[in-house]
Amino acid sequence: MTTESSPAPVSNFLRTIIENDLKAGRYAQRLWAGRPGPASVRMAGSADPANIRTRFPPEPNGYLHIGHAKSICLNFGLARDYQGACHLRFDDTNPEKEEDEYVHAIIDMVRWLGFDWTHEGQTNCYYASDYFEVMYQFAEALVTAGHAYVDEHSAEEIRQARGTLTEPGTDSPWRDRPAEESLAQLRAMRDGKYPDGTMALRARIDMASPNINLRDPVLYRIRHAAHHRTGDAWCIYPMYSWAHPVEDALEGITHSFCTLEFEDQRPYYDWILARLAELGQLAQPLPHQYEFARLNLSYVVTSKRKLRQLVEEGHVQGWDDPRLPTLAGLRRRGYTPASIRLFCERLGVSKADSRIDYSTLEQALRDDLDPIASRAVAVLDPIKLVITNFPADRTEPCTAPVNPHEPDGAQRSFPFTRELWIERDDFREDPPRKYFRLFPGNTVRLKYGYIVRCTGCVKDSEGRVTEVHAEYLPDTKSGTPGASAVKVKGTITWISAAHAVPAEIRLYDRLFTDAHPDSGDKDFLTLINPESCRSVQGWLEPGVQAEPGVTWQFERLGYFVADRIDSRIDQPVINRATTLRDTWA
Ligand code: ATP
Ligand code: MG
Repeated sequence: MTTESSPAPVSNFLRTIIENDLKAGRYAQRLWAGRPGPASVRMAGSADPANIRTRFPPEPNGYLHIGHAKSICLNFGLARDYQGACHLRFDDTNPEKEEDEYVHAIIDMVRWLGFDWTHEGQTNCYYASDYFEVMYQFAEALVTAGHAYVDEHSAEEIRQARGTLTEPGTDSPWRDRPAEESLAQLRAMRDGKYPDGTMALRARIDMASPNINLRDPVLYRIRHAAHHRTGDAWCIYPMYSWAHPVEDALEGITHSFCTLEFEDQRPYYDWILARLAELGQLAQPLPHQYEFARLNLSYVVTSKRKLRQLVEEGHVQGWDDPRLPTLAGLRRRGYTPASIRLFCERLGVSKADSRIDYSTLEQALRDDLDPIASRAVAVLDPIKLVITNFPADRTEPCTAPVNPHEPDGAQRSFPFTRELWIERDDFREDPPRKYFRLFPGNTVRLKYGYIVRCTGCVKDSEGRVTEVHAEYLPDTKSGTPGASAVKVKGTITWISAAHAVPAEIRLYDRLFTDAHPDSGDKDFLTLINPESCRSVQGWLEPGVQAEPGVTWQFERLGYFVADRIDSRIDQPVINRATTLRDTWA
């Protein structure tokens, strides 16, 4: 299912469940008709070629974030590892906030992460809205069998009669009405005869259940709203808790993985499936729901509502702002799909809620890129270094490995000249103790070039250093026989000023100043870090082809990528994905 296979997976409780199910042959008799459907469709199929079926069911009401990546890697990864299929299902049962833009963005990001929903030539990409008709037929079947009724109370009245954790709910006066009456009202609801919120279809379970989710939950509510795919065809929409088990069953899902907050919904999930199976509407074996702990990452917010607020109120540039934990933002920032998969693998799965430090994500990026990223030099805070004994008209080529982990692999080449750009911080007129870089009288190596001895500096009228001066020591060029004759304690990076490529470089910091911006009753908007993005004008080594999708290591500085929106070949804009070390701790 993914383009690359991962190393031998670490076992976890979900793998154990699947392995036991496969061993017991629990899903061996399943039929698959090549498409989702009720029992009538599924029973006409043949043996399911997929050992298991899982699904990733996003609601297309926002962009995917790093939390979704955990669910994607889990669902697609398990299907791949057990020769199963993973469906991409748009859970678009809520007309108000759903849009095609989000559907496209979700497809784009799941593909980018390296996953694919094709199995044995079948494209398992589905929309819950395609099931509206069959779902409605199921609802009529439940009403006819006495398992559901139309309650003419308002949403507020229904809520008030639900009881509390310690007190049972009260039966609605419509609970025991004849099935024909409920059926007629349900049809009238569907036909648009009633305004929003005047009545609802409810499951008839148990108003005294200690599990509030079983106190006659609502199946359908009236909502006169256009849907991004079905338009005005419907004015009643299914509730998530009713739609979800039906969607899973129609698609022949075997293992339905969701986050822990749905644990209390599982009895209701099972109740719906059991009733519909008894009524001959659903094929056996039925799906099972399992819960795992969601990903909570420090220094970010991952609620779609809060992300939307950040975007819509202009606190960030858009859903793909490089500071956001959206997958589009992480991609733009320079994260690779492999680094996100590695991160999710390291997270593992468990039933215990925990908070993961943001640095874990950054470390996964470094570990992914260190062996493979091309190296280059960049200077972020430039000051000129003049090699006073080097002729102005001379240009001398220097070489360095593209990746030092492969010293004999591809080489890069760049010129050494009289005037170079170095980092301002690599020179001190009065060095502190243990400072081994440039200061008057000290010698340092210009990496892959010559050893130079600092002779002084030039200052402007305000005392600010404008130029550093040094003399090079002939015969000390890297890679030549005399290179190690002179010992130095410091090495610095540099770029020939005449050849350097100018670039805008964007340096990012945490978007929030608080590790848990959305915990308790904190107002996350007041915790935005005003210095989360700093833009500098710097220089790049000649030969850096800055194009989005290729993340470089700029030596000593971190991992960088060309910004996919703002960068131009002749005017590069570069994002720093992460520093080389954790500078936050
Ligand atoms: P929100 O509540 O912010 O809208 P959501 O969880 O409702 O997010 P969905 O689009 O419904 O978003 O999620 C699709 C799938 O991704 C669900 O199966 C959900 O369990 C999973 N998911 C969402 N957030 C996380 C997370 N932080 N960790 C693990 N899985 C997650
Ligand atoms: Mg949701």
